Amino acid sequence: MIKNKIGEMENLFKEYRLTPKRKLVLEIFLENKERHLSAREVFRLSREKGADIGLATIYRTLELLEELALLHKLNFGDGRSRYELIPVNDEEHHHHHLICLKCTRIFEVKDDLLQQLESVVENKYNFKIVNHNLQFLGYCSKCRQSEK
Ligand SMILES: [Zn+2]
Ligand SMILES: [Zn+2]
Ligand SMILES: [Zn+2]
Repeated sequence: MIKNKIGEMENLFKEYRLTPKRKLVLEIFLENKERHLSAREVFRLSREKGADIGLATIYRTLELLEELALLHKLNFGDGRSRYELIPVNDEEHHHHHLICLKCTRIFEVKDDLLQQLESVVENKYNFKIVNHNLQFLGYCSKCRQSEK
């Protein structure tokens, strides 16, 4: 399954090569699909897989994968960039994030719900919207439970 996915991604590398290190980083993202990984976390996971990739290489690899539109860079305001996979076949719409201010866990909102807002804004401001970026900040159910 993961091998097939990486095969699909290989032709997106264009003039770059899918080196073993780049392949390993992609594998880590495919194995941790529900997570939003920082460079340090990718580094730690690569160590766990027995790989010997320096942190600087991880940073460069993440930047390249972002440039190739394989990864999406996210900023949740905690001072570190995080990344997640962009689906190769764009059958899934992008999703939005709920960020818990207490435990810093990140939840995904699969519904978009913003089409209507976009068309209102487009009409009112005569602005062609191509994308949006939205985060919800608050407290998750677990954290609210423990407050009681
Ligand atoms: Zn929480
Ligand atoms: Zn996400
Ligand atoms: Zn959206």
